[in-house]
Formats: sequence, structure tokens, C-alpha cells
Amino acid sequence: MSERLVPLGKRTAGAAVRPAPAADAPRVYVETYGCQMNVADSDLLGGVLADAGYATTPRAEDADVIVVNTCAVREKAEERVVARAAELGAIKRRRPGAVLAIVGCMAEHLKEGLAARAPAVDVIAGPDSYRRMPALLAAARAERTAPVPDERSEDTRVGLLPARPAGRGAAPVIDIKLDKAETYEGLSGALAGDGVSGFVTIQRGCDKFCTFCVVPFTRGRERGAPPREVLRQVRELADAGFREVTLLGQTVNSYAWDGTTFAELLRAVARVDGIERVRFTSPYPVDFTDDVVAALAEEPKLCKYVHLPVQSGSDDVLARMRRGYTVADYHAIVARLRRAMPDIALSTDILSGFCGETDADHAATLALMREVRFDSAFMFAYSERDLTFAAKKLPDDVTEAVKKKRLAEIVALQERISTEVFAAHVGRAERVLVHGPSKRDPAQLVGRTDGFKSVILPAGVGSVGGLVDVTIERATMATLFARA
Ligand code: SF4
Repeated sequence: MSERLVPLGKRTAGAAVRPAPAADAPRVYVETYGCQMNVADSDLLGGVLADAGYATTPRAEDADVIVVNTCAVREKAEERVVARAAELGAIKRRRPGAVLAIVGCMAEHLKEGLAARAPAVDVIAGPDSYRRMPALLAAARAERTAPVPDERSEDTRVGLLPARPAGRGAAPVIDIKLDKAETYEGLSGALAGDGVSGFVTIQRGCDKFCTFCVVPFTRGRERGAPPREVLRQVRELADAGFREVTLLGQTVNSYAWDGTTFAELLRAVARVDGIERVRFTSPYPVDFTDDVVAALAEEPKLCKYVHLPVQSGSDDVLARMRRGYTVADYHAIVARLRRAMPDIALSTDILSGFCGETDADHAATLALMREVRFDSAFMFAYSERDLTFAAKKLPDDVTEAVKKKRLAEIVALQERISTEVFAAHVGRAERVLVHGPSKRDPAQLVGRTDGFKSVILPAGVGSVGGLVDVTIERATMATLFARA
């Protein structure tokens, strides 16, 4: 799956369907960067901490534990976390005994080196360490509240690294062990969020090793969750009133578990009572098998929307990325999906300026975009990530100025296409799942179409968690506006 940045998310995770915490419970604040998988992981972690007796707070200033769940997919994402960690470190220091944990992909990527870039950090934990977070935090909090010893003993530490020399403050507690078997079975993190749309992680890790991507190094090898566990979590969501579920995995459609295929799992999830819509992200193009296409076309609750990361429209670049498909293969997959579902909505990821990309390669990407006409896209300029094959073997030889120019052309083209695609919905009837009040105008509601387009609904039309039939009255390049 191509990781992508979403705007900085601040979630109060783990808040749902649990007994109220004790009045004097320590308070945790969780801040999330990165993809939907990270959002789901923050919910899971919030659940682990809630079960360990933590209360949640929406304000870092009130927290005894500040957790930043991070993304390593681009250098910029890491820079943002480093800057934010400095701010959160200052907030932490104003609250005696408070600790700052940096967790997730960036923690796994930088390991102990993270402490040099974010000196305020007290706990560094990778994506497979969340079950152990209560113990890691307890160790760090005990150190922060303990009288300062003359010499620090390593055997007081949960982490794996030697302590910093006395006088420099406590070294962070570190747990970055990747675990080939960890799927967080039995945990119930899915119940956070907006109460309408929830996530269930069905697969962790990635075996694809695209040459530009650090994810296999930060999240480890691919492994799926057992189908009974997936269904347990989906039923739990349905029982809690959720109406939509998104199944998550780095290459979600390569899911397989002891004879159960991804298509079979999709059909089973779509039949859970109370769930009205099922989505999944992100599939890997060449793993899009006919049985998955058939399930999508046949099951009414499976949304007719696929995020299908293409990355480049050049065969040479795709080969250097080791994506495992050609442009023709990709077009064939799109054609299969559109033959089965003519109105299917498609989005993609595009990575501009990869090693060796020529003007002709760039033109080929623009051509592919014109041909496929994606509803929307996540578009980025390539930045080298250490550990990857590209960082070791392929020169990052496209200048920043050229990357910037090409990315601007890609974004401009996609904006034009999205404007046209969204405008084509004006006058159409759409069934919208209402997610909650609009951020811009809380008197209005916001929901989504089956094709994952945001719709603003006039006041009085529909209720949160309900499906409502509307007609689209106008559109921008990213939003539809409905009348009753
Ligand atoms: S290695 Fe490739 S398939 Fe795996 S997460 Fe990265 S981009 Fe996606």
C-alpha cells in the first residue's frame, strides 16, 4: 500500500464503550500522523491504554502521557513530527512527571537515533509494540517521578538500549522489536472514531519491497488476521452502531488466511447485520483477482470505489520501482473493474520525480491520468528513504526544481479532471451515509457517497448514521452539495 499523509489528526482514542476511568486516572493524549492504518493503530493503542486504566484527554496540556503516532514514508512527514515533538516537549515539561512517547513507523525507522532528533522523547515504540505500551509508559513515568539517582542502572529499564550518562536526564525506554506474528488479535481498538465509520486492520506488514518504500522495514513482513477475528471486530462495530467499515492492509487484497481468500472475507463482512457499507484500502494492482472484482460487483454493500495506487505511467519507472506491473497491466485491471462496474469510482497515488525519471516518463504519467481519469489522487514528489533499495542503489537524480515543476503539472491536471468528474454528478441522485456535522458549518451535515465523495447536506436532511437519498445540486473539485 502506498502510505499517504492526511492532515494532522488529533484524536481522543480509545474513548468508546468502556467503563469510565477512575477520577484520578492518568490522562493520555494521542496525536496521529500518516495513513488510515495509523489512525486505526492510534485507536487500538487508545484501547490498550484505556484497558490499562488511562483516561483520554483532547488537550496535550492536560496529559500525563502524550503519544505521537508517526509516519516515515516521506522525509517531510518526519520533519513535521520532529518540530511537533519539540512543541510537545515544552508542554510536557510544564507538567511534572508527564512523558512523551513517539510510536509507529518513524520510531521503527529511526530507532535510538530518534532521541537525537527529538530529545524530549521518553518512549520509542514500533508498530508491533502496542500491547506493551502500558509497561513501557509505566517504566518511563516511574523514572520521571523518581528522585534523580547518582547513577542509573540498566536493569530498571524495559527498553533495549543503555541509559544515557548520568546528568543528561533519563534515556528513552525503547521497544522496537518487529513481530512476525503480531496482528493484535483480541484487542478492540476499532470502537473509536466518529461512531459511523470504523476501521478494522485485517493485514499488517508488507512483502512487496517497492524500491522507494520504507514500509516493509518499519512494519515488517505481511501477515493477516484470522477471519473470525476480523468478523468479531466488524460485529463489535455494528453492535456499537457503526454503519460503515473499512478493512485495512498495506496490500489489503493480497490477504489470505488458511484457505480464506480476500473475496470470501469481503463477502462475509458485507453480510454482517447492521453494516451498510464496506470499503477496503489499499489494494495492490496486480493482486486484484477476478473473484474480488465479482464480489465487488455482486455484493450491494461493497462500495463501488477502489483506491488503486499506480505511482507512475512509465514502464521504465515502474520497473525501477519494482511495482510488478506495466502500464498495460494497470489499464487492463482498470478495464476489468469498469466492465464489471461502469460507474466505479477510482482514486490513485502518484509519485513524481523518482530516480531516473525523464521528461518522457513524466509525460507518460500525465497521459495515463488523462486516459484513466481518476476521481481523485494523492500526489507526491519522491524523497529518498534510507534502508530502501532506491536509497542504496539508484541515484536520486531528478533535481528538486524539476520534481516540483512536474508535481505541479500532475496536481493541476488532476484538479481539472476531478472538477469535471465531480461536476458530472450535478443533477444525479446519490445515496449518502451521514457522518456528522460539517466542519465549516455545523448546522449542515457531511456524508459520503458510495463512491467516497464528500457531500454537504442542507440542514434538516438526514441524521447522523443514516442513509439519505439526495440530488446533487452543485460541485467543487472535492465536494458535492446536495438538496433534499
Ligand atoms: S512496499 Fe510497495 S506495496 Fe508495500 S507498502 Fe510500500 S508502496 Fe505499498
